[in-house]
Amino acid sequence: MFKVIKLKRILIVLVALVLAAAVIVAVVLSVRGGSAENAFSPLPKRTIVIDAGHGGQDPGVTGIRTGVKESDLNLMTARVLSEIFLSAGYRAVQTRYDEESTVEGAFDKTADMAARREVIRNAAPDAVISIHMNKYEDTSRRGVQVFYTTEASRELALNIQKHLNQTMNMPTLGKEFDPIHGDYYIADNGDIPSVIVECAFLSNPIDESLILSADYRLRLASEIEVAVARHLKASV
Ligand SMILES: [Zn+2]
Repeated sequence: MFKVIKLKRILIVLVALVLAAAVIVAVVLSVRGGSAENAFSPLPKRTIVIDAGHGGQDPGVTGIRTGVKESDLNLMTARVLSEIFLSAGYRAVQTRYDEESTVEGAFDKTADMAARREVIRNAAPDAVISIHMNKYEDTSRRGVQVFYTTEASRELALNIQKHLNQTMNMPTLGKEFDPIHGDYYIADNGDIPSVIVECAFLSNPIDESLILSADYRLRLASEIEVAVARHLKASV
């Protein structure tokens, strides 16, 4: 009897040990499985192409007060926008990274635009943001204005313009704008939502001094990223 009881106890202990081991293995495997998923199959990164308009021999418009080139301001704004998207976990691709033109040799607008479209095609982005500066004969005109071309871009253009109205245009100008629809080559990328953001009117001295400030460019770029991120999350 004593021997039988002892054997039973040993069996119970053994079964308990096997069960405990099984639980430990299961927990370890599930934890490993979870971390393996994080390490090897992360959420695919969203890609944004940021296009700094003009460049090289094509300066774009110039500032009314300082004569600053649009191409330089576009590049500075595109750079900070890229940094913000990168730090928010996006892949950011620029159509140009320096003051040089996108094409070598004599400036050719058609080749320049084709080169930009090639960058966009290769990047297969979730959105394209083309950065430009505005100019208007009425020098009192100010504010941030969004442009778009395709139906696939309409919602993104509306959302960015609405957000920039609330954060940039209303506080300083007391007015809002609607996004402007037109035939713009850089914003015509088939199904890829693509917008042009004209960040400031270089024909207005106040807008010119604002966009010359790194703080203002950072603030504007941050608000563009917020609007794009919200749009992409909502359109999943
Ligand atoms: Zn321009």
